[in-house]
Amino acid sequence: MSDLKGRVAIVTGGNGGIGLGMARGLAMAGARVVVAGRNAQKSEAAVKDLTARGADACAMVADVTDPAAVQRLVQSTLDRFGRLDVLVNNAGTNIRKPVHELALEEWHQVLDTNLTSAFLCSKAVYPAFKNAGGGKVINIGSMMSLFGASFAPAYGASKGGIVQLTKSMAVAWARDNIQVNAVLPGWIDTDLTRQAREQVPGLHDNVLRRTPAGRWGEIDDMAGVAVFLAGPGSDFVTGTAIPVDGGYAIQG
Ligand code: NDP
Repeated sequence: MSDLKGRVAIVTGGNGGIGLGMARGLAMAGARVVVAGRNAQKSEAAVKDLTARGADACAMVADVTDPAAVQRLVQSTLDRFGRLDVLVNNAGTNIRKPVHELALEEWHQVLDTNLTSAFLCSKAVYPAFKNAGGGKVINIGSMMSLFGASFAPAYGASKGGIVQLTKSMAVAWARDNIQVNAVLPGWIDTDLTRQAREQVPGLHDNVLRRTPAGRWGEIDDMAGVAVFLAGPGSDFVTGTAIPVDGGYAIQG
């Protein structure tokens, strides 16, 4: 059920944080993994991390907000590996300001990186998935897909949008045997949230207090759900949004 041998996965933003945690999971389950990001050095370090674990992995430089770069990423993956089975739309960013202070360019930057990129990448992989008789798209949402935060208007809009985009793609592509699901991580220790803890007073302790598991998540906590949603165990699971949050979302 969790054997990914022979499968090929692209993980956007797979060069660090949650993307790397998921890439590790996919690789350990036998998939060949392409980590895609803008920072070539960071991507090479991630490939080293993966190959040290025995994985077949490579890095491709791509800005997922650029439609031409996305097309190149998909074509290069097909050229290199001859197939493509899994897309993880994980690349993301945040600009923490209340809505009345957020500039239009900042709004676009967050929406383009977090939401439009998922549209572009999913659309780009669709022909390969359809021709192969199926595929898996895993979109990364957030607790902000469910809740509001004063400091995350664009981020919250993008992550709410991810859940609805997931449902639309799931319905559209179900007959092509393509499953599309979202993962909603809780608070995971990454570069993104290290920055958040510097910018949002009290965040670290508030997360600890509210998370029933009593801890921040680690990137390796994201591996299992990636393997499940990428593998045959989830062939009848589509359009869902699965929290991986130590219980944060169900705390009363
Ligand atoms: P990181 O900042 O560690 O990782 C973000 C990754 O996205 C980087 O590897 C970065 O690589 C890549 N990226 C950003 N912009 C682009 C772009 N334009 N093109 C290609 N790659 C890009 O953060 P996280 O690991 O925390 O976040 C990963 C995802 O998880 C995001 O979607 C985030 O919103 C989501 N998330 C995170 C949570 C957390 O607690 N950490 C909670 C809920 C959701 P590079 O700089 O090389 O381009």
